[in-house]
Amino acid sequence: MPQSRAASPRARTEPGAVDVVVVGAGFAGMYMLHRLRQQGCTVQVFETAGDVGGTWYWNRYPGARCDFPSMDYSYSFDPDLEQEWEWTEKYPTQPEILRYAQHVADRFDLRRDIRFRTTVAAMVWDDDRARWTVHTDQGDEVSARFVVHASGPLSKWKKPEVPGLESFRGAWYHTARWPHEGVDFTGRRVGVIGTGSSAIQAIPLIAQHAADLTVFQRTPNFAIPAHNHPFAPGYQDGVKARYREMREQARVSMFGVALPMPERSALDVDPEERRRVYDHAWNDPDNGLGDMYVAFTDVLVDKTANDTAAEYVRQRIRGIVEDPDVAETLCPKDYPILTKRLCLATDYYETFNRDNVQLVDLRKTPLVEITPAGVRTTDRQYEVDDLVLATGFDALTGALTSIDIRGRGGQRLKDKWAAGPRSYLGLAVHGFPNMFVVAGPQTPTVLSNIIVSIEQHVEWISDAIRHVDEHGVGRIEATAEAEDAWVAHTREVASATLFPTSHSWYLGSNVEGKAREFMVYLGGVGPYRAKCEEVAAKDYEGFVLDRSPAAAGAERQHAAAAGPGAGGG
Ligand code: FAD
Ligand code: NAP
Repeated sequence: MPQSRAASPRARTEPGAVDVVVVGAGFAGMYMLHRLRQQGCTVQVFETAGDVGGTWYWNRYPGARCDFPSMDYSYSFDPDLEQEWEWTEKYPTQPEILRYAQHVADRFDLRRDIRFRTTVAAMVWDDDRARWTVHTDQGDEVSARFVVHASGPLSKWKKPEVPGLESFRGAWYHTARWPHEGVDFTGRRVGVIGTGSSAIQAIPLIAQHAADLTVFQRTPNFAIPAHNHPFAPGYQDGVKARYREMREQARVSMFGVALPMPERSALDVDPEERRRVYDHAWNDPDNGLGDMYVAFTDVLVDKTANDTAAEYVRQRIRGIVEDPDVAETLCPKDYPILTKRLCLATDYYETFNRDNVQLVDLRKTPLVEITPAGVRTTDRQYEVDDLVLATGFDALTGALTSIDIRGRGGQRLKDKWAAGPRSYLGLAVHGFPNMFVVAGPQTPTVLSNIIVSIEQHVEWISDAIRHVDEHGVGRIEATAEAEDAWVAHTREVASATLFPTSHSWYLGSNVEGKAREFMVYLGGVGPYRAKCEEVAAKDYEGFVLDRSPAAAGAERQHAAAAGPGAGGG
């Protein structure tokens, strides 16, 4: 990678000034920092947490682990890294992924440019100087030509919207803010609110220790068995031998993992063949989430086809859970399978056969309040010692709109997105020049192996910054027309599927007052990548590249004033 610091106007220009501020040091922020440094940029990363890792720093609840295979859910940008790192099992645990993130930080000496325990609170665009001024909760004020948000699609955690939590006498824990020292539930009466992916991983393990576990379920979820296992001797070497080919397939795939795409409709095969396909997804020790998504061509688009998969899983639940009433309560019936995130489970449904576990159906008896002694529903009070809130996130937009971001003319991002996110390619926003987003709304990210999407975004953004520098451009901004077209295209693709028919965080419907807008680009990882590459190849079609002397020259003056060698990185 050529070092272009001397020739470019990207030197540090004043005390507290850098080329790029990056928000967040999860997998997105870490790679963004590494990549920008490689091309000679000075970078300041801010991170609320005490170390790198993002999701895997925060989500330390029992059972937390990835549900994409470790060999896929890992960086591909450095062949030595991927050859040297040893994973231990099919689905890595949170501690193992965190160790991996920490290893990457050590290996590339990332921490020296990351300010931990520091939250970006606000940022303001100065159109005359073509710079952002970034403010943190620690009183920092940093000037930057570019800002990159790597603040996480699932980092803004949310409490349940019921009163009384502050009155609760016991201890409460959100899955996304779990104590580092762990929690001992031995002999305790524990309540878990929520039955999404986090709860489905945590419940079986909490049940093993708690005296009593009460699960408060509003919406049941579909889950298939994880079949997690340690790697057999030699397995990892085999994957590593064909890693490059596998990674390339993932990059151009629909979901960021190399999977054979289906060719048959669920409705064109007989029931026995359908059962064989679903049995494979359920039973095969090498199965994965993707097997259900690609079982047939139409499970995501045709309700009748989807019903065949949903009914298969319901039958499985009924076959595992001994109490027929509990089994029915656990069976999702009012939304198509896969339109809320499918979960991978280890002993989840089986846990409801334990004597110390009870399920409360909040659809029948809704949650009223948290009381000092526990949880009150419309029909009774449940006394608990500890409460686990597995209540999810203000996904995709929450971390961004929590920052007071003011773009051109003082426009606030939060206001602009009040009726739902608007972006061009999910990477840039009209009215917010020189600002990019990694893993944000209107990209395929959260319906993909996220590391694949992160790498693509980071590489596209760093290439765009390099292009801007090499061409004397001071401002790069998405046009209103390009943004309108991308929003319309995202909606159009989604409306051809069953996804918008269910109340999911993809749609914002898990957050009170949040606009209902389907926030995921469903065109697939490979086609999305091709579109982004096409935009770049056409001199950033859909962006205005401002080459005016005012935009580019102002920066050069600052660089000149700072003198040769200023900055560093
Ligand atoms: P994050 O890892 O969320 O990092 C963002 C960082 O930004 C956080 O550390 C946060 O503290 C910081 N931050 C946010 N706002 C600010 C601010 N204003 N100032 C300073 N710092 C800020 N994806 C998969 O593909 N496969 C999986 O199996 C999978 N499992 C998951 C399991 C859990 C429990 C969760 C919650 C998510 C899971 N995901 C999974 C999604 C996961 O979030 C991504 O895979 C990936 O880790 C996101 O990386 P990121 O760097 O974009 O965001
Ligand atoms: P989630 O899927 O949004 O689940 C939140 C749960 O809390 C839902 O069951 C929700 O019910 C319930 N809930 C929220 N507010 C409530 C209230 N006021 N009263 C009662 N119930 C309430 O959140 P998550 O489980 O943390 O997962 C979020 C995403 O993170 C996942 O979809 C996935 O992408 C990722 N993740 C992945 C894994 C993995 O296996 N690797 C693990 C964890 C998380 P409703 O459905 O009715 O709203």
